[in-house]
Amino acid sequence: MTKYVFVTGGVLSSLGKGLASASIGALLESRGYRVSIQKLDPYINVDPGTMSPFQHGEVFVTDDGAETDLDLGHYERFTQMVATQKHNVTSGRVYQKVINKERRGDYLGNTVQVIPHITDEIKASIRKLDTPEIDVSIVEIGGTVGDIESLPFLEAIRQLRLDLEPGNAINVHLTYVPYLRSAKELKSKPTQHSVKELRSIGIQPDMILCRCEMDLPDSVREKIALFCNVPPHAVKAAVDVDNIYKVPLKFAQHNVDTTVCQMLQLPERKSDLSAWKKLCQIIDAKRDPVHIAIVGKYVDYPDSYKSLIEALHHAGLANRADVQLHWMESARFEKGDDLEQAMAQIDGILIPGGFGIRGVEGMIRTIQYARTKHIPFFGICLGMQLACVEFARNAVGLDGANSSEFEDDPHYKVIYKLRELVDIDEMGGTMRLGAYDCDLKPESLAIKTYGKSQISERHRHRFEFNKEYMPIMMDSGLKFTGMSPDGLFVEIVEIEDHPWFLGCQFHPEFKSDPFDAHPLFQGFVAASIAYGAAKKVRVDQGEMVP
Ligand code: GLN
Repeated sequence: MTKYVFVTGGVLSSLGKGLASASIGALLESRGYRVSIQKLDPYINVDPGTMSPFQHGEVFVTDDGAETDLDLGHYERFTQMVATQKHNVTSGRVYQKVINKERRGDYLGNTVQVIPHITDEIKASIRKLDTPEIDVSIVEIGGTVGDIESLPFLEAIRQLRLDLEPGNAINVHLTYVPYLRSAKELKSKPTQHSVKELRSIGIQPDMILCRCEMDLPDSVREKIALFCNVPPHAVKAAVDVDNIYKVPLKFAQHNVDTTVCQMLQLPERKSDLSAWKKLCQIIDAKRDPVHIAIVGKYVDYPDSYKSLIEALHHAGLANRADVQLHWMESARFEKGDDLEQAMAQIDGILIPGGFGIRGVEGMIRTIQYARTKHIPFFGICLGMQLACVEFARNAVGLDGANSSEFEDDPHYKVIYKLRELVDIDEMGGTMRLGAYDCDLKPESLAIKTYGKSQISERHRHRFEFNKEYMPIMMDSGLKFTGMSPDGLFVEIVEIEDHPWFLGCQFHPEFKSDPFDAHPLFQGFVAASIAYGAAKKVRVDQGEMVP
């Protein structure tokens, strides 16, 4: 019998509901419970795949090819769960299902309404994860209590709790307790209002997690307890931390997991937090910096590259280095900014995934610089495609080589639309999505880095390398070291005589976690550290570098 923790948020957005849900999941797993975490998103898009990363942040891709909310990345990084399509449900998807049923005549002449038809569909989506393998299902409801669009989701969890036996579900509400400097006081009123709003729609929270700058004094805790109708021990401080991976231990200090287990009437089990403690020791240990440039399109929107940033930090931890990220908007290198000056302090260059022409020529110039100056280079998806374009233009001499994403019919179409997508113009869900196997070539950098010959990685792309150009590119030294097992898709390219130059068509960042940094990121960061150290020696000897 799966038990439920429903997580709602109040007062304001960006309080870290996703991280709170992931951390509760991690703590339950540390007690040997098997968890799943699901995100319910109230927006009307069927999935975030069609949304701009400016607005919505990164689109996280699952093994089964779902384009999902970035919180699912946190869930996977904090717990053992492997997210699927079922773990992210949007209003758009729910309404689409209900409307399809209505068109089929499934409702037998009834008026189709938000209650019960939409709420029933939401409840069915939640209960799909109710399996013998899952002890606790954590369900995070996106948005903030008080939003019109989240009402059907809140109503659905209210009903679901009644459908379940007592003790099988709890409501955790995350709020904000601001510290007012002028009054030198933590203020509980926003929390009181937010809980009042929640109770007005029939949901009484069992636990209130209070995001705050400092620990809550007993007086504030008792006041919130009294006004929000919960026992004082169920009011928990969620104090700010300087690193997201410290949240589980912070929650454990406040007995969040003990209280959740008691409320869910789960049998008492000892928790083992040794892995989290060790991780936090590594985070706090002194680590030398390594400087990585990320040259892309959305430099002011770090949420657009959430998994990428995390993967680089994981690789830093694995190498006991402090990865410092230098965001550079690629367009500046088209407009004439000097690469040599911009890269003077840089130990490794990364070009991430992306869509659209903006800044592409600047990325190509950057890749040429990394290739010819022997600076470690990692190209991901678009970064790999542009590495091929750059090589075709500047190493092979195919003037005007390009991707057909950026030019209608380039003379040398090195990157072109996926064969199965030709003539498909619809945007939603029409990419090569999800996990695919890839065979690695013997003696390649890839096989050495992974330590195995077959891998599986997640994809999200509409364009691919045009294999017609393989022979000519190989003659000039481009190596195709990862191919799909059927030989159809180029998955990894490398070049010879370079300390570390690798482009991959897939997104390795989706499969990295703090306990198990992804091998490609580990390898790239290790090469960057080595490059930085060698550069320092050369500079010390008075040489001009790079
Ligand atoms: N725009 C490229 C494509 O669609 C790359 C996509 C990406 O980087 N995720 O193939």
